[in-house]
Amino acid sequence: MSRVVIVGGGAAGLELASLLGRSVEPHDEIILVEGETHHYWKPRFHEIAAGTFDNDLDTLCYFSHGARNGYRHFQARMTDINREEKLLQVYKPNGETDTLAYDYLVIAIGAISNDFATKGAKEHCLFLDTPQQARDSWQQISSLLRSGGQRTINIVGAGATGLELAAELAKVNGNLSQNAYAAKLTINLIEAADRVLPSGPLKMSQEALLRLEKFQINVMLNTRIASVDQQGMTTSDGLNLDADIQFWAAGIKAPDWLNNIGGLESNHANQLIVKQTLVTTLDSHIFSLGDCAAIPQADGSMVPPKAQAANRAAVHLAKNLKGLMQGKELTPFVYKDGGMVVSIGHNYAISTMMNDRLILKGRLVRRLYDTIFRLHQKTVSGLFTMSRLIISKRLKCIFKPN
Ligand SMILES: Cc1cc2nc3c(=O)[nH]c(=O)nc-3n(C[C@H](O)[C@H](O)[C@H](O)COP(=O)(O)OP(=O)(O)OC[C@H]3O[C@@H](n4cnc5c(N)ncnc54)[C@H](O)[C@@H]3O)c2cc1C
Repeated sequence: MSRVVIVGGGAAGLELASLLGRSVEPHDEIILVEGETHHYWKPRFHEIAAGTFDNDLDTLCYFSHGARNGYRHFQARMTDINREEKLLQVYKPNGETDTLAYDYLVIAIGAISNDFATKGAKEHCLFLDTPQQARDSWQQISSLLRSGGQRTINIVGAGATGLELAAELAKVNGNLSQNAYAAKLTINLIEAADRVLPSGPLKMSQEALLRLEKFQINVMLNTRIASVDQQGMTTSDGLNLDADIQFWAAGIKAPDWLNNIGGLESNHANQLIVKQTLVTTLDSHIFSLGDCAAIPQADGSMVPPKAQAANRAAVHLAKNLKGLMQGKELTPFVYKDGGMVVSIGHNYAISTMMNDRLILKGRLVRRLYDTIFRLHQKTVSGLFTMSRLIISKRLKCIFKPN
């Protein structure tokens, strides 16, 4: 009998727990350690913040899902590891600490925003790292929208997170234009690089910029924020950008407490360093994947921190761990990038295909964006449940009054 403990039920961890739970021998035990009660798909956190998220159909309760899919949800947050005794230390919602024994441990706790120690950012900015932060953001946005007049929102970082958030907020504000009591938003999207989506292909950045300008979002490129206070932000050139609400969405890192945890190797972004087989470099019983892992490829490149990469790594590790329990060798994870899809406003998306040679855009591409989420739902809940959810959503859109 083997006990596999997976920490983190996000894009990677939930897929892994579901795949293993449904396929391992009944005497093997799969435990998912996750602090939240419900799973939210992180690439939709900006929708929670903008009030456009569907809470009924797009979340999943770990406890009941685990019961149907062969894993146990242990609601707690990992705090440390004792590698000698193979014990995970956790902090439970009731304030108690506990330990959990493992034969194999998988760490998939994702990443948080990196404020690069910018003065005042932690105190005066909202972040979209957890569902709670996203819900708190909506509380503030909702109150701002109801306050009337001309209001300003600063968003730092024009990568996927910042850009999707800016566009979603602009779309919501546009929908409220007939409401005489609603505030009119000025949205500043501030980026230190010379283009939006700096890690994407140039053509995609250009298309995204045109769309953002159509939404009248004030895109400020080559602009670095030096400090933040309650009134607003100051750029490194001394320009003051006053705002009512400020978001930080620039850069990611794994949480600081992960750095060298249990003596494991980590990099400058606190990510655990793993081999191409996803096993950590110093412990053959501990694995890591998703945004919190630094995963090398044979050509020397690193797997990017993307939902798509987290999903593919989970599918690979599920096969590897099953094989390992049957005495087989681990195989390397080879990542093939399927392109990038970014949603810009609720009904529009831009995507790259064919090694970035083809750029697609429009309402239909938005369906492609949804497909990544639907594939995740298919992996965690099966084709039948995914189909029922799609049909329910369609019917809801058709019949729900405005
Ligand atoms: C607003 C936004 C938009 C995005 N848009 C895109 C996009 O368009 N395309 C794309 O590819 N990527 C996008 N991303 C990035 C994508 O969400 C991540 O790359 C992906 O979710 C990483 O998966 P993961 O499993 O590593 O981490 P996550 O999905 O973040 O899951 C980590 C899980 O670990 C849990 N956890 C954290 N700490 C602990 C602990 N101590 N103990 C137990 N559990 C813990 C968390 O609660 C969470 O459930 C976006 C991200 C954001 C925030």
